[in-house]
Amino acid sequence: GFECGIVGLPNVGKSTLFNALLSTMQAEAANYPFCTIEPNVGRVAVPDERLAKLAKIANSAKLIPTQLEFVDIAGLVRGASKGEGKGNEFLSHIRTVNAIIYVLRCFEDADIVHVEGSIDPLRDAEVIETELMLADLDSLEKRISSAQKKAKSGDKALAEQVGMMERAIKVLQDGKPATAVNPKDKAERKLLDSLQLLTSKPVMYVCNVEEQHAATGNALSAKVAEMAAARGASCVVVSAKIEAEISVLPSEEEKKEFLGGLGLEETGLAKVIKAGYKLLDLVTYFTVGPKEARAWTIANGTLAPAAAGVIHTDFEAGFIRAETVGYDDYIQYEGEAGAKKAGRFRLEGKEYVVQDGDVLHFRFGP
Ligand code: GDP
Repeated sequence: GFECGIVGLPNVGKSTLFNALLSTMQAEAANYPFCTIEPNVGRVAVPDERLAKLAKIANSAKLIPTQLEFVDIAGLVRGASKGEGKGNEFLSHIRTVNAIIYVLRCFEDADIVHVEGSIDPLRDAEVIETELMLADLDSLEKRISSAQKKAKSGDKALAEQVGMMERAIKVLQDGKPATAVNPKDKAERKLLDSLQLLTSKPVMYVCNVEEQHAATGNALSAKVAEMAAARGASCVVVSAKIEAEISVLPSEEEKKEFLGGLGLEETGLAKVIKAGYKLLDLVTYFTVGPKEARAWTIANGTLAPAAAGVIHTDFEAGFIRAETVGYDDYIQYEGEAGAKKAGRFRLEGKEYVVQDGDVLHFRFGP
């Protein structure tokens, strides 16, 4: 799954931002006949300039961008891990997402109460993170003794898991998130993931600023950016209010004009979506033809058969080969025929790791 959970204290602009995501999605809903919408789940198109360029060359009738899911996780307050607010419900939602987006209030507005009494995004981030760490510690402490008992019967996999649990408990007791376990290889990473901890998921910070600071950020968002950089996390500045206004504008031209007037090149949502895509370590490949040009999402490092399986399980089961043209070649030689002439058309097999931007055509049999 490719899901980002949105968390934040009350009154930081979370719903404003999420509703902007939802209406962006609804505007594009015509493209997604099978998109089921739950009240707290938004599926949005991932902006990608490459798709239109490919479609132009192939004369595609339709463009279908790839999508990312956002889940609005409401009800987090200080004490959530002890059941304050809707704490438990909140924590069960967040376990299933793949990455976490912190929305932090960086706007001053005397009319809008802050639950902590003052505007301080670093403290807010800490409040949230502390709740997540406490919840992780709690869940590990509940699980570890029975896991230890079972591991004694000689189950090696379980013994490894117990070892990882012990390491995670130690860093959490030190007041650090589970990511601080620093898994040394893929196997350890997998082991850590299998514990389903809240603080082992990748994190990104979204600073919600006043309209006039949307282009540049403000002193508060600068502090958040500094903290994020120190942790190797990404940080995006948005104005939820602007996003709400833009999301209801009917046409692309009007959106562009509105953004230009504010000194912005793209919407904050586009920034959030792109950063979320990166955060989840996803890449895009394309299928391009006269009917449609379409973008597909896979995890970085996916082999060709599994990539084909994203389109249809039959494609994976009966995978024979992938006819492949790299994105740059497709553009430079103006399509598949040109790429073929230039010797830039490849037949790739089962061991091929699909690259970001690949234009693929799968051959499969029964
Ligand atoms: P949530 O509780 O985090 O979901 O917050 P909401 O999205 O409901 O926003 C709380 C209040 O803050 C609402 O009245 C919003 O209109 C307001 N708000 C959100 N973003 C901004 C902003 O950038 N500037 C100002 N001044 N108010 C905002």
